[in-house]
Amino acid sequence: MSKYDVIVLGSGPGGYVAAIRASQLGLKTAIVEKENLGGVCLNWGCIPTKALLKSAQVFDYLKHADSYGLTVKEFDKDFGKVVDRSRGVAEGMSKGVQFLMKKNKIDVIEGLGKLKPGKKVDVEGKEYTADHIIIATGARSRELPNLKQDGKKVIGYREAMTLKKQPESMIVVGSGAIGSEFAHFFNSMGTKVTIVEFLPNLVPLEDEDVSKQFERSFKKAGIKVMTNSSVEKLDTSGKLVKATVKTKKGEETLEAEIVLSAVGIASNLENIGLEEVGIVTDKGKIQVNDFYQTNIPGYYAIGDVVPGPALAHVASAEGITCVEKIAGLNVEPIDYGNIPGCTYASPEIASVGMTEKQAKEAGYELKVGKFPFSASGKASASGEKDGFVKVIFDAKYGEWLGCHMIGAGVTDMIAEAVLGRKLETTGHEVLKTIHPHPTMSEAVMEAVADAYGEVIHL
Ligand SMILES: Cc1cc2nc3c(=O)[nH]c(=O)nc-3n(C[C@H](O)[C@H](O)[C@H](O)COP(=O)(O)OP(=O)(O)OC[C@H]3O[C@@H](n4cnc5c(N)ncnc54)[C@H](O)[C@@H]3O)c2cc1C
Repeated sequence: MSKYDVIVLGSGPGGYVAAIRASQLGLKTAIVEKENLGGVCLNWGCIPTKALLKSAQVFDYLKHADSYGLTVKEFDKDFGKVVDRSRGVAEGMSKGVQFLMKKNKIDVIEGLGKLKPGKKVDVEGKEYTADHIIIATGARSRELPNLKQDGKKVIGYREAMTLKKQPESMIVVGSGAIGSEFAHFFNSMGTKVTIVEFLPNLVPLEDEDVSKQFERSFKKAGIKVMTNSSVEKLDTSGKLVKATVKTKKGEETLEAEIVLSAVGIASNLENIGLEEVGIVTDKGKIQVNDFYQTNIPGYYAIGDVVPGPALAHVASAEGITCVEKIAGLNVEPIDYGNIPGCTYASPEIASVGMTEKQAKEAGYELKVGKFPFSASGKASASGEKDGFVKVIFDAKYGEWLGCHMIGAGVTDMIAEAVLGRKLETTGHEVLKTIHPHPTMSEAVMEAVADAYGEVIHL
């Protein structure tokens, strides 16, 4: 029987990052993976979707080339090649993780792993033992009873990113990051897209101002937006899927070639030995403490299998925290109030901290500032004037409570607010931080200036 200090079950951004950190800290480490190294993020999530979205962006630029003074006489998309490029990027990233495992001397055990009592893991009949076992088995597309996925006409995200043929029409159910990104991608490619959201706003977790702007942009791009609406029934018997949608005004029947269900995820908790070991779960998640220890000593859980935002950077941070604690380092628990969330549609969305509504409900007196990209020199030069940066400060002590951005490239700008909040920066300090000109990031400084009545370019 092979003996390790740490065995990680699952090689997504939670698992493989935990394994690397464990190895860096001198722990003998193995990782078990039943599919491709890199998990959902690299193979079926973050990376391949961003590759698809890049193709959509290039295509959109070509469509609007004349607005940049350019004549592009002939151009077209090749949907198959767009998908192939995305798969190639994912494959390359997975190979990169393979390299990192080798570099860090981590044993990769291929196959389906199952936890056993006594700190053991069974991988297809072979037993391995470790002082610490980290569960990082991730999640899959959630299925709702009235949205049963058949993988052909009613699909989840895996099928959506590997379609052989571009559908002429599509209904996207759910407008979180995944639904919104696919809605934008297919719409840009020329599919007729309807997005159906149960709640009153698209991207419902975002600040309301952001959601409203996003809805305007989606409608302008030609996407049919149905909020306050729910898909009640699907009829897949004909060539097109018939969806019965309940709206505030009554029922409406939509027809589309494909329905993409993007109504969230379900953690992979089944058949991994949780019951046998006695690990406690609640509401579909493994229960852990601040350092990701389960109720059974020696067993830990991180990433999409534990409560908290299901995001790659969260999974990785949890993996690092978990392993550093195992190695006896002096670690602080993760601050779940300071996690950035991004949607990579067009326009992009990025946010951290409280929305204006949440901050008001929490009883703060606020200073709110907003700077539209229409007043930004860089945005004008780039032809990307839609969107804004909104900042929310506590009026009393100047604490940066929240930052909400919508517009081109904002997903690369949000880290400033995350760092500022981590360092407990006040509004005044951001205001006095010189930002380079011309950049989209100046909008952060100007939004803060707006909050304090000192905005220059408005
Ligand atoms: C379409 C889509 C787009 C996304 N885009 C983003 C984004 O832009 N940014 C972001 O932060 N997040 C994004 N996410 C979310 C992100 O992918 C997940 O939060 C992240 O992958 C979770 O990491 P994880 O390590 O917990 O698990 P996963 O990445 O799900 O990895 C789990 C791994 O465990 C393996 N496994 C499961 N059971 C076993 C077993 N019994 N034995 C062996 N191996 C097993 C699986 O095969 C898998 O490889 C996206 C998700 C989707 C679906």
